[in-house]
Order: sequence, then C-alpha cells, then structure tokens
Amino acid sequence: MAAKHAFLTAALLALSSPALAAEAVPAPDLSAANARLAAILDKSYPTLEALYKDLHLHPELGMQEVRTAGILAQHLRKAGFTVTEKVGGTGVVAVLKNGAGPTILVRADMDALPMEEKTGLAWSSKARAIYEGKDVPVMHACGHDTHVAYLVGVAQALAAMRDSWSGTVVLIGQPAEEPLKGARAMLDDGLLTRFPKPDFGFAAHVTNLPAGTVAIKAGASSSASDSYAITFHGRGGHGSMPAATIDPIPIAARFVTDAQTVVSREKDPAAFGVLTIGAINAGSAPNIIPDRAEVKVNLRSQSPAVRELLRSGTARSAKAAAAMGNAPEPTITYLGGTGVLMNDETMATAAAAALAPIFGKGLLFAPASGQAMSGSEDFSEFVDAGVPSLFFGIGGYDPATLAALKARGEPAPTNHSPFFAPSAEPAIRNAVAAIVLSIVGGVHPAPK
Ligand SMILES: [Zn+2]
Ligand SMILES: [Zn+2]
Repeated sequence: MAAKHAFLTAALLALSSPALAAEAVPAPDLSAANARLAAILDKSYPTLEALYKDLHLHPELGMQEVRTAGILAQHLRKAGFTVTEKVGGTGVVAVLKNGAGPTILVRADMDALPMEEKTGLAWSSKARAIYEGKDVPVMHACGHDTHVAYLVGVAQALAAMRDSWSGTVVLIGQPAEEPLKGARAMLDDGLLTRFPKPDFGFAAHVTNLPAGTVAIKAGASSSASDSYAITFHGRGGHGSMPAATIDPIPIAARFVTDAQTVVSREKDPAAFGVLTIGAINAGSAPNIIPDRAEVKVNLRSQSPAVRELLRSGTARSAKAAAAMGNAPEPTITYLGGTGVLMNDETMATAAAAALAPIFGKGLLFAPASGQAMSGSEDFSEFVDAGVPSLFFGIGGYDPATLAALKARGEPAPTNHSPFFAPSAEPAIRNAVAAIVLSIVGGVHPAPK
C-alpha cells in the first residue's frame, strides 16, 4: 500500500511540477539573464510606474484608446522600434528586427471598462466617456493599464538585451479586448500580412492572485464567450387593457428563467457552461405596456459541443417564450465573442521549466487536463489565426493585503470589481520577466 501511495504521489507531482513535467526538455539557466533584466528594470521601473498611473487616471474604452495608443507608440519608438499606429482602429504595432530567428508576437490590451472606480487610490479615475450612447464613468478595472506598462518594459528590456536573443519581435497594443473585438479588428486590418508574420506569441494578464505568482495553464486556458441581444416584440398599449396588447415583459421574464434550463437540464453537468442575463430593458411607466423588451445574454463554454448547445438552446428558448406569449419571433442579434484560448502545450511546459527557478513557489503550472478559467480572452483570435501562443496569469495582489482581507472575511476584489487595485510593481515587473525570459530562454512551440 505504502509503495503504491508513493507511486501515486510521484505521478501527481509529475503532473503538477513543471520541473518534472518538462524533464525531456532541458531548461536553460536564466539566472544571469534574470539578474541583468532586474538591473534594467530597476532603472526603467519609475518610468513604467508613471506610465501606469497616468493611464489609470486617463482610462479609455475599447476603440476609443486614442490617448493611450499615442503614448504607447511614443514609448515604443523611443525604445528603438518601428511603430505603426491605427491598426484595426486604435491598435499599435511595433517591430524590432534583431538578426536571424523566429518572429515573436507580444500583446498587451489597452482598454478600460464603463464603470465607476471605488479603489480610493490617489490616482483614481474620474474619467467619463460615451458608451452605447450613454455618458458613463470609466475605470481600468481589469489592469490593462499595467499591461501597457509591461509592454513598454518588454520593449526596453529586449532592446537593451539584443545580444541575448535573435529574431524579430512584433509588439502590439490591442484595442477593445473587453468587448472581444480588438484582436479581430487588428487581424482584419492586416496584422499578419502588413507586418512580419509571427511564428508564435506571448501575452500576460494581471489577476488577484498573490504578487509573485506566475500561472501557466497548458491547453485550454480561458472560455469561449458569445453575447447576444434579444428583442422581444409586443404590441404596446394601456396598462388597464392587456387584452388589446401583446405584453413583451412576461415573455422576457419567462425567457430569463427558461433559458437557464438549457444549462441545468440539457447540458452534461460535468461540462463547463454558463448562461448569464446581463441586462433587461423594457418599459417606462407602470401604466404603459411597452411594445418591446430587450434582454442581453452572455454564454461561456469550453468545448464546441457546449458552445453550440448554449447558442441554439438560447435561441430556441427565446423563440418558444415569444410563441407562448402569442408574439412575433424575437430578433436575435450577435454582439460578438471569441473562442477558447488554447495555450500551446510545448510552450507551456518549456516556459514552466525555464521560469520555475526564477519564480520558485510562485510558478504555478496546470496541465492541459486541468480546469480552464471561466473568463474569456480575445487573444484566442491570434492563436486561431495560426500564431501558437502562451498566455501568463500574473499575480498582482500584495500577500499582506490578501491576508488582511481574509482576516476580515472579505474576498479579494476580482478583475472588473470597482475595488480592483493590483500592486503595480510586482504585476508589471513579473509580466516583463515572464515574457522576456521566455524569449531569451528560447521558449517556442514544437516544430510543425
Ligand atoms: Zn476584463
Ligand atoms: Zn482584461
């Protein structure tokens, strides 16, 4: 029994330990490169922090990142890159050629969210913008301000360490990640044809994990997302005369509850799938039956079969709810979405092995069989367009802050919380280190 247990433990360790998992690929010794990078960052970090604070104070919504893109372009030019602006709207592409070798994509997203900041940071945003016709507050609640800063850090470090790597890097400042539109817009504007075509790529996202954490998930890393607006058409009229109307409100209400049975009754309970009604808009006064009700639905899935079930089940439920209310067919409009983000398994294991000695216990590795995040990322568009990639999760919360929150019984604010306030320095420095050291360490996908 004991021997059997020991064997099992070893097998489990082999699954969770990057050092063991990547035994077949000898990891390069990156300690000297890391020391050199740390010295570069010691000098450049004040500039990166000033940049992060400036962007945090001046957040811009997707496809409105004019100021952000301009500032990013300036920094990348200063670092010696050839910069092209307005790629796919407000996107920025910066190229540095450094001899023979692969072409490597590094992406940072630039957009903020339509919400009011409540962090209490001295550099809190008071910005407002027009979002879907409404004047709204704007906040960097997903940490994309730290992403723009890490992209500049990566540019500066790769330029300063040209003797440690060779090839071409294509850095991109991507617009509109939150509405899952910006990656597609850059691809449609010729990202892969107007510029050197990347052989593989990297990106990183700050999270509320403890600072010092670099999380790598092989295989499926985030979920597919699909959003729809469903308009139920009725016949408006007086609140006292329902028989003369078709009331879209009970139809919408029925849909809201019925649609959940697609998840609870039709989907395999072991398979991941989420259906969220994020908005219901109808009516104005208690005595008016409106002529329409609009519902916004978001679907998350991690397999093509569940994705299709949720899409078709949602449409079926909407049509059935309308039919039951004797109303015309609802109008179903696709608002956008993206597929599952697949991390290249060879890159994931190689990066985990190379970075484990640098980040120690902070390096978390999950194999392809592990659970992907429920969130979504349109970085998947680049992967699906033929750029095998690795997406890092970067811990941004000071462990002391996390411990204090835990002691008060409060959860750590997640991305998109009005209180989301990662510590910029570890978030930015560790994202730069994970990406630059992966490039210097020669992390690449398996040859085709
Ligand atoms: Zn986000
Ligand atoms: Zn984000």
